[in-house]
Amino acid sequence: MKILGIIGTNAKESATRSLLQFMQKNFSDLAEIELAEIKNLPLFNESVTESSSQPIQELGKKIMAADGIIISTSEHNRSVSSALKSFLEWMSFKDHPFDSKPVMVVGTSITRQGSASAQLHLRQILDAPGVNAIVLPGNEFLLGDSINAFDDQGKIKNQQTIDFLKTCFKNFLRFVKVADALSVPEEVHFEPGKYQVSAAGHNGKFPMTVTMSENRIEKIEIDTQGETQGIADTVFQRIPDQIISGQTLNVDVVSGASITSHGVIDGVATAVDLAGGDANTLKKRPKVNPATVQAPRELTTDVVVVGGGGAGLTAAASVLKLGKQVIVVEKFPSIGGNTIRTGGPMNAADPKWQNTFDALPGEAATLKEVLQQDESQIDPEYLADFKELKRQIKDYLENGKDYLFDSTLWHRIQTYLGGKRTDLKGHEIHGQYDLVKVLTDKALESVKWLEDIGVEFDPNEVSMPVGAKWRRGHKPLKSQGFAYISALQSFVNNQGGQILTDLPVKELLLVDGKVKGVVAIDAQQRQVIIHAKSVILASGGFGANTKMVQKYNTYWTKIDDQIATSNSPAITGDGIKLGQSVGADLVGMGFTQMMPVSDPVTGELFTGLQVPPANYVMVNQQGKRFVDEYESRDVLTQAAIDNGSLFYLIADDQIKATAYNTSQEKIDAQVEAGTLYRADTLADLARQIKVDPAVLEETIKKYNSYAEAGHDPEFGKEVFDLKVEQAPFYATPRKPAMHHTMGGLKIDTQTHVLDQKGQVIANLYAAGEVAGGIHAGNRLGGNSLADIFTFGRIAGKAAVKEITE
Ligand SMILES: Cc1cc2nc3c(=O)[nH]c(=O)nc-3n(C[C@H](O)[C@H](O)[C@H](O)COP(=O)(O)OP(=O)(O)OC[C@H]3O[C@@H](n4cnc5c(N)ncnc54)[C@H](O)[C@@H]3O)c2cc1C
Repeated sequence: MKILGIIGTNAKESATRSLLQFMQKNFSDLAEIELAEIKNLPLFNESVTESSSQPIQELGKKIMAADGIIISTSEHNRSVSSALKSFLEWMSFKDHPFDSKPVMVVGTSITRQGSASAQLHLRQILDAPGVNAIVLPGNEFLLGDSINAFDDQGKIKNQQTIDFLKTCFKNFLRFVKVADALSVPEEVHFEPGKYQVSAAGHNGKFPMTVTMSENRIEKIEIDTQGETQGIADTVFQRIPDQIISGQTLNVDVVSGASITSHGVIDGVATAVDLAGGDANTLKKRPKVNPATVQAPRELTTDVVVVGGGGAGLTAAASVLKLGKQVIVVEKFPSIGGNTIRTGGPMNAADPKWQNTFDALPGEAATLKEVLQQDESQIDPEYLADFKELKRQIKDYLENGKDYLFDSTLWHRIQTYLGGKRTDLKGHEIHGQYDLVKVLTDKALESVKWLEDIGVEFDPNEVSMPVGAKWRRGHKPLKSQGFAYISALQSFVNNQGGQILTDLPVKELLLVDGKVKGVVAIDAQQRQVIIHAKSVILASGGFGANTKMVQKYNTYWTKIDDQIATSNSPAITGDGIKLGQSVGADLVGMGFTQMMPVSDPVTGELFTGLQVPPANYVMVNQQGKRFVDEYESRDVLTQAAIDNGSLFYLIADDQIKATAYNTSQEKIDAQVEAGTLYRADTLADLARQIKVDPAVLEETIKKYNSYAEAGHDPEFGKEVFDLKVEQAPFYATPRKPAMHHTMGGLKIDTQTHVLDQKGQVIANLYAAGEVAGGIHAGNRLGGNSLADIFTFGRIAGKAAVKEITE
């Protein structure tokens, strides 16, 4: 059941917010509670047309989509806050999303009455004909003396108060079901025919054809070409199925693909209106009620894998290759996690192949720096490798070679030095030698293994994602991370593996204190118990869990509550918590990575012109360069933060051609939407991004001269490719967003999860971003894919080996 909690105040610090946050956290076993803020809404004014503005529309949609609403109110002069009143005016002006919606009222106040008067008034407002909510009677939860009601962790101090709140909430959930059953569908009539509409998706508009008979929606056909493969597929199947089977527009959006889900719902709503029906009537109809069966479902297998991302599917494929059974359990409706979101490049030193590419200007200088590096700065376990690497580099440079150099040792030392960092507390961290050695020794084997599974790599491009520090990226020919996920999914399905989606794992199954499987909850809230001899945790990191990032952070001076993330919303640290529940040790949790070049609003990576760093030209809000664009991600992030966070990537027409995962159509759409700037002259471009034209022209003139010379006296950029000279010119706005979490469960080279004494926790393995110890303080771009496929393979093998022994 999906509940929306509306925080009825615009105050920054408020017990009203804390109350809903407490309910969200502590009652998650009863229902999924999403919180909504009203603090950024304009003040209601009936003579302006703001009701069609995005934040108001978005909130309206969320209310419509929820099964029930909780409103938390504070008390001001015996009434609700003016922000809450204004919000309710918007919600009863043009659209009426509260109409027939079950609502629970809770509240707090600093006085002992605990918002009694405000709640009474709120109930009156909710009963008004324009609002027409169905308010839960009785169950008055009044939290008085709110200043002293919560402890430092945001927990309500008094246990009796918690118990009462829980009882009220349980009553509300029963009330929601009753209210749903009460809403009798209103008749609708359509002009039969096929209606062509276009709906807004994640990557622009997509066409749809909706076929109506006299009183039914019969068919929904969608042209899916423009949408991201994999992520949106579930939307295109599930939403039309639910609309047609329930003849309702009141359907749940698909987690992780809400924009596309709303696109489909809105598209059908438009068709309904065109056919002479009333979309609002269909929006008020009850949701399709999946059959509810209470008895737990029990399954048995050899190995159960938690998480259907890259590491999980790889582990599953390895298990199947060794002839054992496997079940992959995935929290979200579609598999892929963060892996399906990647740009694709995977690091693996393959000198034979890389030597066929020319060296770029500046690469030799980077190698020379290694020769000059002070060996006393190298940690003892890496020293022998470092000395051998120096010998390799000397040999390469002395022979005047002009091809691209690489070796496994260069990859290893770059991973180690790239990850060596000191946090705010002065704690130094670097990658654990044995794990980094496995990663770099076996990365190429993983590329070949993936080729065997069916992933085709582009032999003509050696790529370097941002912050990778060297060109050793193997990039699949098919689009983005989908190439990996689709090949692995086919392999697992064809070899008899099971992939169960929409099934978050909530607990590890313990028998006599030993891990013997997992317990998950399906979409109908039914328990699914999977008995297995081994469990592989592959549930990714915790980049989408800002609270968890903030809790462990020891690296960044501040992590904003509102920070955007490039991660799938599913990546909330579940596997780390599952591991901790059986005593697992954690490593490097304070170190997280921000992606400096993210979309300022959505945190996404592949909007605008995302080009290789050799072609980056980063300018701040004054139009000046501010960093060596070839630097690692954390250096770029800190430089961006120091320059006000927002900055621009400047490109010209030739640089545009090197951008990942875009097309002229997408570029044009973004220019039209105002999220990417384009101009025929640099001066015009400067005016669009509000910087002084003379400053930007001077910046680019200097940059071009450095690119020509292969040397940057200002910031030390050493690797250049193209200059900025050919119109049209582009500026892509960027801002750092939470991207990767380096810390996680402590593992050994066989991926066993270790406890705090360094002992193996029997039957429990972890692979991928859920595990720590490899990337330490900073992950090199392209190293994560190498990690998840390498350690995913090892986890599958180790689990099978130990079952058979
Ligand atoms: C936008 C973006 C671009 C990137 N580009 C690159 C790149 O080009 N090269 C590179 O090397 N790295 C890249 N990375 C990093 C890399 O993608 C990730 O580190 C990597 O994919 C993690 O893989 P994983 O299998 O460990 O986790 P994921 O792929 O995230 O999969 C974890 C899965 O577990 C599921 N799950 C979570 N909790 C539960 C639960 N309780 N029960 C069941 N299932 C659960 C999730 O839904 C998810 O499907 C990128 C990351 C992002 C976000």
